[in-house]
Amino acid sequence: MCDYDNAIFRLATETEPEDYTGEDGLLYCGNCRQPKEAYFAEGKTLFGRDRYPKECDFQRKQREEREAADREQKHREELERLKRKGFTDPAMREWTFGNDNGKCPQMHKAYAYVECWEEMKATNTGYLLWGMVGTGKSYFAGCIANALMEKEVSVCMTNFAAILNDLAASFKDRNEYIARLCSFPLLVLDDFGMERGTEYGLEQVYNVVDSRYRSGKPLIVTTNLTLEELQNPEDTAHARIYDRITEMCTPVRITGENFRKATAQEKMEQLKTLLNRKESL
Ligand SMILES: [Zn+2]
Repeated sequence: MCDYDNAIFRLATETEPEDYTGEDGLLYCGNCRQPKEAYFAEGKTLFGRDRYPKECDFQRKQREEREAADREQKHREELERLKRKGFTDPAMREWTFGNDNGKCPQMHKAYAYVECWEEMKATNTGYLLWGMVGTGKSYFAGCIANALMEKEVSVCMTNFAAILNDLAASFKDRNEYIARLCSFPLLVLDDFGMERGTEYGLEQVYNVVDSRYRSGKPLIVTTNLTLEELQNPEDTAHARIYDRITEMCTPVRITGENFRKATAQEKMEQLKTLLNRKESL
């Protein structure tokens, strides 16, 4: 909307005590010394007025600041909503690029995934994050989830222990529950392969994975299983699940430093220092 259109809605110019009238008879801003009104073209008038209000630099700057603050506030609220909806464990909120200790050599692939999200989405490409326990696979996936949420992409990060729990609790609404999991543009299934065992469990896992596959939306899986185990399933029940996953997810071997071990090591060091200090007293 241009200033001229604005005039129809806003006939009065907002004045401040420091404003003054310029030589041309228009009101000037005492802050930025720009006119806060303008004459209608060719001496025309509207509702008996020869001039209309005009935004000066100072007013524009104030308006832009106000709008930016509003946008930021809306973004924070949306982010909070996405995190509350998408994370099954509040600890996942902290698994961010910003909190990363830099010890995972594959982390650039997490950045790349976020960077190329539109392409990943369009081509239905996910990651199969495998490697030893405690190498930071969940953290890696959490970084992607958090960074996409920052972009206001809706992500669900959960694990099969939670899914099987929910499915057992909601006997009636199973399809609805699985449909909800498939509604997220990105689904992250943490700790896949821990639910091995019961026929019922495997059936549900297959239902979730197959539904996700048919939804045409990407899936990221973290697992302690080796790629070899995934490529050589023990029976057909496992085979059909693994086949789906390996078709949808590009394998990435995570070789990050064992976070839990590092923490244990640090605790040991602290204890040693403490004991040494005691001895020297
Ligand atoms: Zn001004």
